[in-house]
Amino acid sequence: MQLAELLAQLEPYNARLVAVSKKKPDEAVLELYAQGQRDFGENRVQDFTDRQERLPRDIRWHFIGHLQSKKVKDIAPFVALIHSVDSGKLLEEINKRAAENGRVIDCLLQFKIAREESKYGLGYQEGVELLQSPVFSTLRHVRIIGVMGMATFTDDEAVVRAEFQRLKSIFNDLKQQFFAADPAFREISMGMSDDYPIALEEGSTMVRIGSLLFGPR
Ligand SMILES: *Cc1c(COP(=O)(O)O)cnc(C)c1O
Repeated sequence: MQLAELLAQLEPYNARLVAVSKKKPDEAVLELYAQGQRDFGENRVQDFTDRQERLPRDIRWHFIGHLQSKKVKDIAPFVALIHSVDSGKLLEEINKRAAENGRVIDCLLQFKIAREESKYGLGYQEGVELLQSPVFSTLRHVRIIGVMGMATFTDDEAVVRAEFQRLKSIFNDLKQQFFAADPAFREISMGMSDDYPIALEEGSTMVRIGSLLFGPR
């Protein structure tokens, strides 16, 4: 799909596009960049840092994959948004590396909403405990701006819709309990090539789309 066509679909929902460039050549990124796209996502640290060095400086790089604590230091100098925070330990490490770089790094808490065992993410209660923990309130170099989740890979639209509704309800609960006075907590990162229309209907503010834009991997 053409970028303009996709953006036109997102517009009524006021949702942002993260173009997921993983495994695609730099030329593909630059083609969208030339059309004005600035938010790009990668899921592997090595590709993420390599690309950032090669490509224009005003690209906002989103880290969307599972992140190991020991790799945080590599992305901390420049990452725009980490979508995949799934433990307090990881958040502490991000805080530490952000401080070293004189930054505050925006993060999303990733929740496990899919049935599949393979998908990472916090359980609801785990997320609540993280936000209640004494150490969380000491972290000055991370800012939680919302939640992220991935639906089960299935043709069953009802399953996908219910999972996105679950993420939206987690967002609402956390907003009310922890972020009621914080306008920055406003993002729900959900929806990929196969399910973004449902995600938009269920309240997504940010879709992460790869193959639909760049072709199959
Ligand atoms: C690969 C990936 C996407 C994009 O997937 P497509 O189906 O190609 O749109 C989105 N989110 C995450 C976390 C991914 O790893």
